[in-house]
Amino acid sequence: MSRKYDTPNFSLDSRRTNRNTATIMQNETLHPCLTCGACCAYFRASFYWAEGNDVEGGTVPVELTEKLNDFMRVMKGTNSPTPRCIALQGTIGERIWCSVYEQRSSVCREFPVAWENGEPHDRCDKARAAWGLPPLTPDSWKSV
Ligand code: SF4
Ligand code: SF4
Repeated sequence: MSRKYDTPNFSLDSRRTNRNTATIMQNETLHPCLTCGACCAYFRASFYWAEGNDVEGGTVPVELTEKLNDFMRVMKGTNSPTPRCIALQGTIGERIWCSVYEQRSSVCREFPVAWENGEPHDRCDKARAAWGLPPLTPDSWKSV
């Protein structure tokens, strides 16, 4: 994963795991991401251009994106020295959510959340640390 402005680009293969929206919403007071949001305000969220909803089969609202290059689009707000995705709503570290959750790109869907699947993840830890949040632990998931 490359970085721009010292900001890792989470387009390189991994971002959120396939968290189920319904599960998250049913447990919204418990899911660690809903009281975090750090990665959406730390990494550059870029993805293959054809994931935009101006392409058949694409989902990401293109009005919330910018062209990064001939192959990639980026979520507005994330290609910045002080990134924050335009789709991110709420207060980081308190209550936060993605306003285009169902339409988010593969890079967002595939980002691994630390310990969600029993393993640590340094990029999750790094984003949280940048916002003054401690790393998740296995215990973070016990009540989810
Ligand atoms: S930094 Fe980790 S815990 Fe926070 S929203 Fe991103 S994946 Fe979830
Ligand atoms: S689209 Fe949603 S999940 Fe992806 S970076 Fe923006 S707020 Fe985060």
